[in-house]
Parts: sequence; structure tokens; C-alpha cells
Amino acid sequence: MKKPFKNGKYFKLQEFLYSATATRLNIKLEPNEEQLENMENLIYFCLDPLRVYYGKAIVITSGFRNEKLNKAVGGSPNSQHMKGQAADIAPSPGNRVEGNYQILFKLAQKLDFDQLILERKWNSANGYVSTWIHISYNKNGNRRQVIENMIVNPKQFPQDKLKLYPKKSYVLPKLQHKTREEEIKNEEETITEIRRNNKDSK
Ligand SMILES: [Zn+2]
Repeated sequence: MKKPFKNGKYFKLQEFLYSATATRLNIKLEPNEEQLENMENLIYFCLDPLRVYYGKAIVITSGFRNEKLNKAVGGSPNSQHMKGQAADIAPSPGNRVEGNYQILFKLAQKLDFDQLILERKWNSANGYVSTWIHISYNKNGNRRQVIENMIVNPKQFPQDKLKLYPKKSYVLPKLQHKTREEEIKNEEETITEIRRNNKDSK
């Protein structure tokens, strides 16, 4: 018998399985047990805590993909989305201003993640705009690799501007393994710090 999926407080399985592209192309998404377990971990260790830190709604813009869907959306051939290890997220549609992407990106760096990617694209008014944040969790070991990427469409992107916004890639120190009590304390301190910073910036 299949065990029931452990939904998070804020993130549920159905959000991983919703895809407009899959619906349009009639692609059925049927994750296996391993993939389901990876999604549970991603919710438990990354998405739910991030939602608590951020304090506002976060939307999954791309969750689980099978091979067909991954091809259809132009994902990389070894995409962690196909293992259920990754999700692309964004602030809720009314809150998609650059500042909120930056806050989410900063907050996510406090988590134990495998890969965190800020996907940006060229915008003539502001230089670039962030479009989504990719985050993944690997129960077999997290690299804590951070990438600030630029989605380059050679037709649209002025090549001379590219050097102003280079792709950055760095690795954050590994997190100490914490007990749940220490984790809760850390979360409380983080939330207090964020509230304080938000007050300062108003
Ligand atoms: Zn992604």
C-alpha cells in the first residue's frame, strides 16, 4: 500500500503536479515513491521554512516534471525537477517586484539546499528583472551551491551589457547538523532579524 504524501503546512503535492504546459499537451504526471519522498523533503527542509521566513505567499511556478514535460519546457537534460528534488518559485502574482525576489533569494540562503538559482532576464529599464528562483534539496548531500544566472536570448540581450551582469556561482559553507530545538531557535532569530530589517527599510 502506498503511504500518504506528507503535505507541508504551506505547500501541497498538487502544487508540484500542476503545470499549464502539461495540461495543454495532455501530459500525465505520475511520480513514483522515490520522487514523492524527494518532494516531501523539499517541502519540509526548504519550502515551508522559507515561507515562514518570508511571511507572505510563495508560488511554485514549476514543480515536478517527467521527461516529456521537461523537454516541453526546455529544462536541462539532468534537471532535478525530474527527480522531484527541485521547484521554481516566485512571490505571488501581485508581489512580483524585484525587492521581493531579492528577499526570497537572501532568505533561502539560510536553508540547507542543494542548489539555489536566481534566474534573471534582461530588461532595458532596470538592467535585469528576476523571473524565478530555482531551489533543490538532495537527501544524499547538499552542495549549497548558489548561482545568479542571466537567461540570455542572443536576439534580445545586448551583448555589451552582459558583462555588467555576469553569471555568478559560489558555494556557501555547509550547515551544522542541528537538532529540531536548535532549528526552531534559529528560525525564531531569523524571523526577528527580518522583521527588524523590514522596519528599518520602511
Ligand atoms: Zn528549476
